[in-house]
Amino acid sequence: MSETKETICLSFPPDVSNQPVVCNLARIYGLTFNILKARISPKQEGQMTIEIIGERDQCRQGLRYLRDHGVSITPVAHKIRRIEKSCVHCGMCTALCPTKSLRMDVATREVLFLREKCSVCGLCTSLCPVKAMVLETENGIWEALTEEA
Ligand code: SF4
Ligand code: SF4
Repeated sequence: MSETKETICLSFPPDVSNQPVVCNLARIYGLTFNILKARISPKQEGQMTIEIIGERDQCRQGLRYLRDHGVSITPVAHKIRRIEKSCVHCGMCTALCPTKSLRMDVATREVLFLREKCSVCGLCTSLCPVKAMVLETENGIWEALTEEA
């Protein structure tokens, strides 16, 4: 048996937002999960970024359970990226990143982006002075957040 850890973004339609489907990942499938970010839109659609940890087969079944309940699942890697040619490695984002996904390589003085650790909190996208960190918005456009977002 092999354990796996995955960070994923979930979108809940309004009729599912108030159901305990995520809690059921632990109750039914024995998975451990950490909620990294959660919000409900004015239309009552839910968005959540979670890290799930458990046996590979149990994870698969848990994700199938979510899909069967109308939850759409996107790997974090599909939600955020860095425009490499824009990044000037100033390091500003490293002080703010809560998951230490952005960190300075002391040997090269370059900022590394460890996307698999990212919770898609969006803080770096509003802070980056050259807008190198971008998120995929709900309409499929890649853009940096503004300070007001
Ligand atoms: S703040 Fe922007 S330019 Fe500076 S290191 Fe981070 S991603 Fe690169
Ligand atoms: S969105 Fe940016 S600040 Fe937030 S966890 Fe990911 S890399 Fe770090």
